[in-house]
Amino acid sequence: MTTVELSGSVLARELRAKLAETAAALTTAGVPPRLAVVVATEDESSAWYVRALAKAAAKTGIDCDVVDLGATAEPAEIRTKLAALSADPAVHGIILQTPLPPDAKAEELAASISPEKDVDGASPLSLGRISAGLPAFAPATAAAVLAVLDYYEVPLAGRHAVVVGRSTVVGKPAAQLLLARNATVTVCHSRTRDLGEQTRTADVLVVAAGRSRMITGEHVRPGAVVVDVGTNPGEDGGLVGDVDAESVRGKASALTPVPGGVGPVTTALLLSHTVGSASRGAP
Ligand code: NDP
Repeated sequence: MTTVELSGSVLARELRAKLAETAAALTTAGVPPRLAVVVATEDESSAWYVRALAKAAAKTGIDCDVVDLGATAEPAEIRTKLAALSADPAVHGIILQTPLPPDAKAEELAASISPEKDVDGASPLSLGRISAGLPAFAPATAAAVLAVLDYYEVPLAGRHAVVVGRSTVVGKPAAQLLLARNATVTVCHSRTRDLGEQTRTADVLVVAAGRSRMITGEHVRPGAVVVDVGTNPGEDGGLVGDVDAESVRGKASALTPVPGGVGPVTTALLLSHTVGSASRGAP
């Protein structure tokens, strides 16, 4: 079987081109879209990600402020900063970057982000609204999974979607979004007894486990569509997915690449959410 590559880069480019037009119009109207990224870590991969996000924002005409509180920031300090940014009318999107200092809990702190500016759906309020079928920004990576599936017209209603991973940022919201689209959803995690038994029943398999190449051809039903969310550091300094593309190719009908799959769409959606939030304040 030929496995079609579901490129996210192509979709991300299209999204960013449309966004640039809207961002320019908003700036002309006196509402320049502004994103604030709150950082409290010296983690190298986080720094790399924030630089890439700031660059993508600049290219799209979105102002991006990186608010670095340092790796020793107290939870109270982070909470105060998030509340101040939430109250600042010039800021339209707020991201709390992880990892955080050991005594800071992301879900708790993110509750201080105003839901209208919670462009990465990090607040428990946003997640609750998504689960209740109410409007809110979904976590960008989970939203990117759905955006890729929609762009390539993968049907979801009535199909069996299996999500590997149940984190608050990816697995759980991805499962909620798939459920909202009428897929029948199974969520697997590290305590799932026989992972292969579950994943082999998937029409659509979404993998977000953070384990390099853990899903092989053995885990995939012939003809399944596989979305690889994983971005693990490779030995050569590059990125490695959670899916062993080599063994899945030829068995799956479609597969997202790593890099160039869900990742670039995630970034484009963060910017899209920021522009969407700014549009609300436009005259
Ligand atoms: P977490 O570590 O928070 O969660 C991993 C999840 O996978 C957990 O629910 C864990 O189960 C489950 N898991 C781990 N090992 C296994 C296993 N052997 N079998 C079944 N389930 C397992 O990771 P994230 O959700 O934050 O990220 C997942 C991946 O997605 C990472 O590679 C990350 O880098 C990538 N990512 C990519 C983004 C992008 O834009 N492309 C953005 C965000 C993340 P349990 O709950 O039982 O521990």
